[in-house]
Amino acid sequence: MNAATAIAPAGIIPAGAVLPGTPAEVELPGHVSFTQIDCFATCPEQYRQRYVLRRPYVRSAALVVGSAAHTAIQHGLAVKMATGEDAPVDAFDDALAAAWNSASSEGDVEWGGKAEGDHLDQAAALVRAYAEDVAPRVVPVAVEADVAVKLPGLSKVLVGRVDVVEAERLREVKTTAATQSSPMPSWRVQARLYQAALLRPVVWDQLVKTKTPKALAGDGVLEVEYSPAAAAGAVSIAAGVVREIERLWSLFGPDEAWPMMGASHPWACSRCSARAACAWGASS
Ligand code: SF4
Repeated sequence: MNAATAIAPAGIIPAGAVLPGTPAEVELPGHVSFTQIDCFATCPEQYRQRYVLRRPYVRSAALVVGSAAHTAIQHGLAVKMATGEDAPVDAFDDALAAAWNSASSEGDVEWGGKAEGDHLDQAAALVRAYAEDVAPRVVPVAVEADVAVKLPGLSKVLVGRVDVVEAERLREVKTTAATQSSPMPSWRVQARLYQAALLRPVVWDQLVKTKTPKALAGDGVLEVEYSPAAAAGAVSIAAGVVREIERLWSLFGPDEAWPMMGASHPWACSRCSARAACAWGASS
C-alpha cells in the first residue's frame, strides 16, 4: 500500500516491543519515531522504562479503541484505493471486528471500569461515522505510509507512519474526547516531521468520543499548509531530542533513573504504565 517515494521500510517501534535482531543487552533503540520523541519530551524516565528497558506496557481502553478504529479505517480506505469506489460500511465493520480481536489480545488492557463490549460499541460507532461522513471525501494514494527523515548530524533516522497520503495533502486521523478546534501541539510537531518527508499540507480528521460518537473531516478546519521552515524546525526538535537521549544515556545508562519530568505534566503520571517502577509514580 505504500506509494510515496520518501518511504522507507521502517516502522514505529510499538511500546514494549523487542525488534527482531535486537541484542539481549539493553541499548538505545536503533532508530527514533515521533512516538518516542513525544514520550521523551513528556518524561525521560518514562522513555527509559518503555524504550530502553522495554517494560511490559499496559494499554488503556482509549488506546485500544483508537488503534482498532484506525486499523478499520485504514482497511476501508485501502479498499477505496484499490477499487476507486467507497468501501461499504459493512467492510469497515468487518475490519473493526478483526482489528479489535487483535488489539484487545496483544497484552494487558486497563478497561477503566467499563465492559470491553462498551468500548467496542464506541469504536464501531466511530468507525461507522467515519465511513459515512468522512471517507467519501478522501482520495487515498497511500495508506499507512512509512516515511523516513534524516536527522542532521546524526546517524539515526526518524521513522513514522502517515495515516493517509492524498495527491494534495496528508491526512491524520485522531481520536479525541471532545471536538478539537485547533491541532494539539504534539500533532503539529508530528505533522511538520511528516511534511519534511512528503512536502504537503496536513489535515486532521477527528473521531470524537462524545455521547453520540462522531467523525469530522479536518479540511478547512484543522489543517496546516506545507511550510519548509516549520518542517525544518520540527526536524531540529527531533534531532535535539535524540541528542538529549544520548546525553542521558551517557550520564545515567540504562539502570539509573532518568529525569522524572512527568511529575510536572498535567496527566502523564496518571496514564503512565511505568508508574510502579518509577520512584515518583510509585510514591505519589
Ligand atoms: S510516573 Fe510520571 S514521572 Fe514516573 S515515569 Fe511515569 S510519567 Fe514519568
